[in-house]
Amino acid sequence: MDYSELVAVYEELGSTRSNLEKTRILSELFSSCGQSLSTVVRFSMGRVFSAWKDEDIGISSKLMVKALKKSTGASESRITEAWKSEGDLGEAAQKLLEGKTQQTFAVKKLTVEKVAENLSEMAFFEGSGSQGRKIDSISELLSLASPSEAKYVVRTVLGKMRLGVGEGTVRDAITDSFFPSIEAFEEGKDYSGDEKLLVDERLEEKIGYNSVISFFSLDSLEKGETYVKGFDKIISTEEGCKKVKNILKRFVQHGYDVTNDFGEVATTARDEGIEGLKQLEMTIFRPINAMLAKKVDSIEEGFEEVGKPAAIDFKYDGMRAQVHKKGGEVKIFTRRLDDVTNQFPEVAEKIVDLIECDECILDCEIVAYDPDDGSMVPFQKLSKRIKRKYGIDKMSEEIPVELRPFDLLNREGSMLKKSYSERFNSLEEIVSEEKGVLRLVDRAVTSDVSEVSGMQQRSLAEGQEGIMMKNLDAVYKPGSRVGYMVKLKPVMETLDLVIIGAEWSEGRRSGWLGSLVLGCSDGEGDYLEVGRLATGLTDEQLEEITERLKPLIVEEDGRDVVVKPEVVVEAEFEEVQKSPTYSSGYALRFPRLKTFRDDKEDADSIEKVERLYKSQR
Ligand code: AMP
Repeated sequence: MDYSELVAVYEELGSTRSNLEKTRILSELFSSCGQSLSTVVRFSMGRVFSAWKDEDIGISSKLMVKALKKSTGASESRITEAWKSEGDLGEAAQKLLEGKTQQTFAVKKLTVEKVAENLSEMAFFEGSGSQGRKIDSISELLSLASPSEAKYVVRTVLGKMRLGVGEGTVRDAITDSFFPSIEAFEEGKDYSGDEKLLVDERLEEKIGYNSVISFFSLDSLEKGETYVKGFDKIISTEEGCKKVKNILKRFVQHGYDVTNDFGEVATTARDEGIEGLKQLEMTIFRPINAMLAKKVDSIEEGFEEVGKPAAIDFKYDGMRAQVHKKGGEVKIFTRRLDDVTNQFPEVAEKIVDLIECDECILDCEIVAYDPDDGSMVPFQKLSKRIKRKYGIDKMSEEIPVELRPFDLLNREGSMLKKSYSERFNSLEEIVSEEKGVLRLVDRAVTSDVSEVSGMQQRSLAEGQEGIMMKNLDAVYKPGSRVGYMVKLKPVMETLDLVIIGAEWSEGRRSGWLGSLVLGCSDGEGDYLEVGRLATGLTDEQLEEITERLKPLIVEEDGRDVVVKPEVVVEAEFEEVQKSPTYSSGYALRFPRLKTFRDDKEDADSIEKVERLYKSQR
């Protein structure tokens, strides 16, 4: 497939905000892209590989600037300038190529396959010279690309497509592309044409019978027992159409939940229909997305969300881990689906015999503890192990960890559709506990608010984060922040901090300052960085921030700016962590802007930050 065809679709997608329209555009694309389907589906989501693959093409914006320098001949400072004014390196690439005086148009056309080939091979370049080879690989693509193609090559490489295409849109587009269209029955309409119709059995008497009509029941469709492939249209009642659509979407969603790859799902839907999707199964050693939790502010609100009675777990201050086991082999994946088995070899080794199951997947938290007294140590310390490549044995002695499983996703087959009670009971059956190695989570099943409150106190007293409340009847929904489990954490005090720097935003928000560098006072008239506030800002807030900060800019370097410390904000956050990155030695975890404090001229002191850090322990 010519890359230009895909680029035309990208442009169309980028020009609308309507999800329905995006779904329509994508479904047309998917229906027509033949052999390239799985690549095109992944590309449209800004991916080169499927999400579960551990490969990463490893190109930073900086390296991209170098590749652009090589292929356009422009200087780095000109590229950075264009990047800043366009707010996006892709747009900058397009402008630079358009501006090339003697544009030598490539004789060879860029194809989707060529882009996929070059990008995929980059993940395998290793060792010295690998950066140069990556630059060569991108430059080759850019030299074959037209200006608008270059824009999307750059965006694909950086994984930032900016098309507003989410998972739901891709799922719906796959459903529309590869299943028959769905139409509501119309009284009096002539259905005797030669289209092959699959008709709701409740309409049998009304529609009459002819050789191109087959009938189905919603029930058998739901069970995946209706053969849908080969039909042109599905006809049902007005409300039946919605149900049919939802059922079909559910098959596609199921495929994605267990494979984590819409490329594979699309190909399966096209080639094998519902039957194929139904048979897609979770595969051991191929991680799936973890179910996420909603946040609640009180125990009562928690019960409202998950019902009574509910399971109450300690919320550990550790790291989410999906543990896959097959026979004697164990692999551990993070919440971002990275394989960290090598970082925790002792866990993999010790738990093999403690989990009695040939094939299973456990959802767990890895919690670190003090080897001297067994008390828990916070995530921050544990995180050192995640990045470690060397000296791992020593690390495992210094920072030993315990695995705390809380859910079971697979036991010789998928458990996702079973209720949480069933999954947990099954988990209890296969886990043999050993302190310091593997223990189920601290947990109680109750409807009693005071019992929950007691657990919350105990969890905090032990240095954990709070509690999770879980719906006993709920299925497991990968990747969703559904209310099947909720988290309840204590609210932190806020800090008044001064903005000392910021960054010019990219994309839709270009022209606005964002990613605010926050500082606390050192008590001597200077400010120490305590983190960056980058998320959760509304357009109005960004506009206001830009207006306030622009006149205060004292220095600019690329997209970074330093500002006079005059604007004070009240920041909320989840935690204070120690940090080598910031000059205060601390970093706020998930800082959010509460309000502007125009009533204040100075920021809170480093002592207050320290006090908050200590009070968490
Ligand atoms: P958060 O990261 O604040 O959104 O909270 C959700 C995270 O809490 C999960 O991703 C887990 O890593 C962690 N967690 C700790 N203890 C539990 C537990 N008992 N059940 C579920 N998640 C837990």
